[in-house]
Amino acid sequence: MVSALLSLLSDLFYPHACPGCGEGVPGMLALCGRCREGVYHPRPFHPGSLGCPHLDGLFFLFDYAGAIQEALHKAKFDKREDLLPRLAREWQEGVEKEGRFSWQLPAEVQLAVTAIPTDPARRKQRGYDVPEEIFRPWARKSGYRWAALLQRVRSTRPQFNLTPAERKANIQGCFALAPKAVLPDIVLLCDDICTTGTTLEEAARVLKQGGVKKVYGLALASSN
Ligand SMILES: [Zn+2]
Repeated sequence: MVSALLSLLSDLFYPHACPGCGEGVPGMLALCGRCREGVYHPRPFHPGSLGCPHLDGLFFLFDYAGAIQEALHKAKFDKREDLLPRLAREWQEGVEKEGRFSWQLPAEVQLAVTAIPTDPARRKQRGYDVPEEIFRPWARKSGYRWAALLQRVRSTRPQFNLTPAERKANIQGCFALAPKAVLPDIVLLCDDICTTGTTLEEAARVLKQGGVKKVYGLALASSN
């Protein structure tokens, strides 16, 4: 109660500023309407066109550009933890508005939502795991089981300056199933950004080797 009141007061006196343009944003979303319009682009994407044979579908909500790129960058590298619940809200509202995805997910099936695990050293430095913070609230609200199905077994270099071939070599073999992971038939595999699809594909490969039947990749933003 007190914390809700404090947060209301802080919203009144220090309104959240849009990471794209600096305008005040009322409510709990991350971006102002105008900046969102510039990058909002919900779409299913064919995994084959990214060369991802272990993925059965892909869905992206934003273009990785402009205000959403700025917001993710701040959340990852400027310790802007306050943006995480707002990014989570962007995902939740966007997916609800779009009527979820284009795939027909059978109602009676063992399904779990998981996120690409952040490198432990980076997670420790940041104090939080960006994909988990964005997607876990939505999974909970949608009644999906959230499970940490994957773990990193070795460190990787940051991906953004690497060529596609270097990315593949960098990621190959970096994931394993988490100890005691109970694998469902279907996994919704979440990451904040999808560029070449290499990370989602490698994680999907490990899940399928473990016996998962279908893996769908979800990303908040994509450059594709
Ligand atoms: Zn804006």
